[in-house]
Amino acid sequence: MTHPSPITPHPLLDLEPLTAARFAAIERKVAALLGTTQDIVVMQGEALLPLEGCIRSAARPGSTALNVVTGPYGQTFGGWLRDCGVTVVDLAVPYHTAAGAEQVARALAEHPRIDFVSLVHAEAATGNTNPVPEIAEAVRAHGALLMVDAVASVAAEPLLPEAWGVDLCVIGAQKAMGGPAGVSAVSVSERAWQRMADNPAAPRRSYLSLLDWKERWIDTGRAALPHAPAQLEMLALDACLDRVEHDGLDAVTGRHRSAAVATRAGVRALGDGVEPYVRLDHEAAPVATTLRTTGDAREIVAAALRADPAVPLTAGGGALAKEMIRVNHYGPDAQLPVIHRSLSALATALDADPAAALEAASAAWSA
Ligand SMILES: *Cc1c(COP(=O)(O)O)cnc(C)c1O
Repeated sequence: MTHPSPITPHPLLDLEPLTAARFAAIERKVAALLGTTQDIVVMQGEALLPLEGCIRSAARPGSTALNVVTGPYGQTFGGWLRDCGVTVVDLAVPYHTAAGAEQVARALAEHPRIDFVSLVHAEAATGNTNPVPEIAEAVRAHGALLMVDAVASVAAEPLLPEAWGVDLCVIGAQKAMGGPAGVSAVSVSERAWQRMADNPAAPRRSYLSLLDWKERWIDTGRAALPHAPAQLEMLALDACLDRVEHDGLDAVTGRHRSAAVATRAGVRALGDGVEPYVRLDHEAAPVATTLRTTGDAREIVAAALRADPAVPLTAGGGALAKEMIRVNHYGPDAQLPVIHRSLSALATALDADPAAALEAASAAWSA
């Protein structure tokens, strides 16, 4: 008789099971990161999972929603809302600006039936950031529920969903947190739970269901996980939360703010052919800086990557591919040397002298 050869333990495969207690501890770290006492639901998928789950759970058929569109994610939300049988009022602003609280207040006043508002905090794809505290105040005054996509703002700029009155705040770790993309989290207010419970169309026994997690995990005292957890991703999320805590959240957001300010200053000093896409500094997202080009952005990015393949440059997505460059200075790339290398590669691609850009970036970084 032959015996199977013994299995050599593999560091990624042969792990201790992830316990319910460990899972709950990770949720508490997410709550601490967001400065909230609200329930945190960690969902086992990329951030589109809780985003779609929130909309399908909280937006009732026959209701009216305000969808603030400042980039591609807002467009996606509008599609889901319509699919739920919701009448959607789109408030679209040009991608080189941010949405204002007055615009939101006006839209709410014009459509009194609105009871749900979807908003993206910062858009990595367009490079703008919206004033969530002010917008949340307008939404509160109207009595609607507010969902915020904070995937691109968490750890890049201040984010306090409970203090600001955000009912559903979705985060992912893959941008400024420098963590994994395969799990994400949402903070849920009491009002939001009530709305979902009152919605007969809210998904149940579904991967999209937040109520399933509430009933089977939160309300049972987090004693047993309802499903096998995405173990590697949860361990990576835990490590990433620990690293942010160790470095200090203020230091991490500070690095991102400095990266954006330095990139904008450097690009302005580069001169012809490229400028910050978002015109006003305070409307520019700390997570990533978008640039408007006169030449074809895809060709400029290709030339820059030939000069330095390691810089975090991409052309804009979809219709923006010809006129927009994204400098994705988030996570470990929110550092001055990365900004310098990105500006040098851009200068090479544009046949420009990098000296003034590098100097301007350094000065802005330390300011
Ligand atoms: C990045 C991002 C997400 C998540 O999308 P991925 O492309 O899968 O990383 C969601 N919302 C916003 C606003 C984002 O910037």
